[in-house]
Amino acid sequence: MLPPINSKNVYIEITNPEHGGDGWELGNCLWSPTENRSGQATWRLMNKIRRGDIIIHLVLLNNLYHWYGISLAESELMTTNNTPPIPSKWEGFEFYQRVNLSNFIPLPRPYPTDEFFSAYYRQLTMIRKDEEEGQFYVVYGKNEQIRMAQRYVAKCPASLYALFDDFSSGISFNPVFHTDEYEPTIHEPQNPDFFPPGRVETKVSRIIRDTELARQIKAEFKWRCQICGSSIQLTNDCYYAEAHHIQPLGSDYQGPDIRSNIIIVCPNHHTEFDYGVIAIDPNSGFIIHLDVNNLYHNSHPAYQRPDIAIEFLRFHYTKRFRG
Ligand SMILES: [Zn+2]
Repeated sequence: MLPPINSKNVYIEITNPEHGGDGWELGNCLWSPTENRSGQATWRLMNKIRRGDIIIHLVLLNNLYHWYGISLAESELMTTNNTPPIPSKWEGFEFYQRVNLSNFIPLPRPYPTDEFFSAYYRQLTMIRKDEEEGQFYVVYGKNEQIRMAQRYVAKCPASLYALFDDFSSGISFNPVFHTDEYEPTIHEPQNPDFFPPGRVETKVSRIIRDTELARQIKAEFKWRCQICGSSIQLTNDCYYAEAHHIQPLGSDYQGPDIRSNIIIVCPNHHTEFDYGVIAIDPNSGFIIHLDVNNLYHNSHPAYQRPDIAIEFLRFHYTKRFRG
């Protein structure tokens, strides 16, 4: 059984497993250039996606498309001049656009869309007649055969989602989204982290993973950096800080998005953590800096966080700092 649609929309992504590379992985975002090589806004459907919309992922595996997983849109469409690490055929554009995703849940095993087509042949041909625009499949030929459409993103009408829902019940796929109905408070700016064009990739990865949990912890520690104790006060009585996953998230490190893995830091110290220049010694709890003359080297953190797990500090210390 799939999550209820409620008042949200559903979209279908048709893609490949490489997807875009680090920070642009399958389930992490939808992305495309802003225009195709002829200057047309081919992917303008992505503009309609809203936070909380449901995304169904169809992925090309061994030359066959498979239903691979499901996720939630975490943002609206944003423009960036960062290029994905693996742009493949979309290399060489000045601007790209992306929708950040969360709650990516893969199926127990991917199912060929051909199985889906044959299971729901009658319904799919009906839907195709009712909803002309932008399906992920086309009905062709005298015998009304069904095949995948050549597009990146397609709308998924409720009638079609109902078929995916039915199919998921048949294979005991019951994904549950952990939704984040977070509203910024006066202590935190609206969308402080939505990136303007031109920031570096590490910054992007960091930002898009600013979860509800990260924001909670920031508020709890008054947006103070655990290294230097400073927080950044903004003009509107808001404060700014960043959340750092001590064992990084993502394919290379597989760090979890849990409280004991999140440290609150200022942008400078965040950068130093990301580049492995600074660490908290897992044994002594002291700050260790690559530069032994650094002000914070061999000093106590600005405040104690007994809820941070030693194992993550050790991971960062050995893999990023010493590594
Ligand atoms: Zn700091």
